[in-house]
Amino acid sequence: MERDRDSTVIGRFAPSPTGALHSGSLVAATGSYLMAKHCGGRWLLRLDDLDIHRQVPGMADDIMRTLELFGLQWDGKVAYQSRHLEEYQHFFALLQQSGIVYPCGCSRKEIAQSASAPHLEDDVIPYPGTCRGGNNSAVVRSWRVRVADEEISFSDLRSGFYSQKLSTSCGDFILRRGDSQFAYQLAVVVDDYLAGVNQVVRGEDLLSSTPRQIYLQRLLGFALPDYCHLPLVIGPDGAKLSKRDHLLSLQLGTATGRERPVLLDVLRFLGLNPPRELSGYPCHAILEWGTAHFTTLLLPAEGGPIPI
Ligand code: GLU
Repeated sequence: MERDRDSTVIGRFAPSPTGALHSGSLVAATGSYLMAKHCGGRWLLRLDDLDIHRQVPGMADDIMRTLELFGLQWDGKVAYQSRHLEEYQHFFALLQQSGIVYPCGCSRKEIAQSASAPHLEDDVIPYPGTCRGGNNSAVVRSWRVRVADEEISFSDLRSGFYSQKLSTSCGDFILRRGDSQFAYQLAVVVDDYLAGVNQVVRGEDLLSSTPRQIYLQRLLGFALPDYCHLPLVIGPDGAKLSKRDHLLSLQLGTATGRERPVLLDVLRFLGLNPPRELSGYPCHAILEWGTAHFTTLLLPAEGGPIPI
């Protein structure tokens, strides 16, 4: 978990302002905070606000207010993806110059119809490479990066060895949409690189995106961060938590003292066993205890419900 003596750990939390923080995102925020701080590092906050259609007005502020309520104070200035378009353009152009990016005219429907390979767990239909040899239509619906026919593997600090062959799991994937919007995969890689992030701790739902990100990091010559994907919070009925479940800002309102038991539940979810007396202490003291005791070895193998 520790890096070289001279390289400070830089972790981050990168919520999308599409809704209020919920118990699942609070786990990601707290887990990434504790791990970065345990390593003596910095913890950054970035708002992934590229997709304007999915954003809910006021949510960026709401998320920041809720993080502060839990004592999760970030270091330095907040970063906003919507302010990094020039940077994305720069690295997109570098990839284009290397001849690995091509325009694609396929619609989702066409891709779905031509799909023969089984889908990934997160419902990505592997792109069959129709436009590799030239755009099959007059319109550009996306810009794709050509993937190599090789396994991309890495060692996750919680779940261990993970490997994917991009050519069969997702195929040539999108870097930019026809309406010019940059894709999450490119944006996240560029942002983490520019901010010096070397420790990515986030929910397990993003585990299957990581090989695509590693592929781009290799193409661009970026150092790979350490990855730790946290178990997911699920509803009491075993179903995936929806964006409307366990909303924290609405439940808590302003500081009421309710945030302390919630934070202690999050620590327990992360495998820690905070002493009973800690419930009488403010959030920053709970986080201090969590920072001292955090270890990836205690992270549970499976997700589960959280009593919020
Ligand atoms: N913004 C992404 C999300 O909310 C997370 C990005 C990341 O942690 O890499 O799902």
